[in-house]
Amino acid sequence: MISREISKEKRQSEIRPDRFAEPDDRELLVVGTYRQTGREVRMRSDAARALLDLMEQARKDGVGIVAVSGFRTVAYQENLFQRAVAKYGSEEAAVRWVGRPGHSEHHTGLAVDLGEADSPACDVEPQFENTQAFHWLQKHAAHFGFELSYPRDNPRGVHYEPWHWRFIGTPEAQRVFQPAIRNPKSALA
Ligand SMILES: [Zn+2]
Repeated sequence: MISREISKEKRQSEIRPDRFAEPDDRELLVVGTYRQTGREVRMRSDAARALLDLMEQARKDGVGIVAVSGFRTVAYQENLFQRAVAKYGSEEAAVRWVGRPGHSEHHTGLAVDLGEADSPACDVEPQFENTQAFHWLQKHAAHFGFELSYPRDNPRGVHYEPWHWRFIGTPEAQRVFQPAIRNPKSALA
């Protein structure tokens, strides 16, 4: 009975338009480990392969790009969100910084936070936009199917995140982000 309940819940989460289905472990590939922490960064396989190609090309161009955070479960996002609520004082304030559980692009397995190899202090910080890595990404990421999810002054009112990129390089990935593209205010943060 329990497994039936879980599969019912999974079905419901798949059809809710405001919520993406979480990928299965088998659909995920490791794109790297986060610096010295040993924490694995994983993405859906298509996105992962595209990111590995992107990082390889950047390296050839003399730019070191590292993956900071990829796939995160809804449960993990819930934890991050609650910590942000505690830090910023309210859900309304927190949502400008951390997506609500079920609304973060990270649980799709198609979004990734990127950093510069030699600039760990810029990880997930606004000053990442001043790195060589960011300048390289602005020029070349689209070629590999990646775009910035939250540019400056985005219509969703999400804080500018120069480090956060999403993969739209396949029709399937584009479908995942279609609600966000069609209806930018109500969709994912
Ligand atoms: Zn992110």
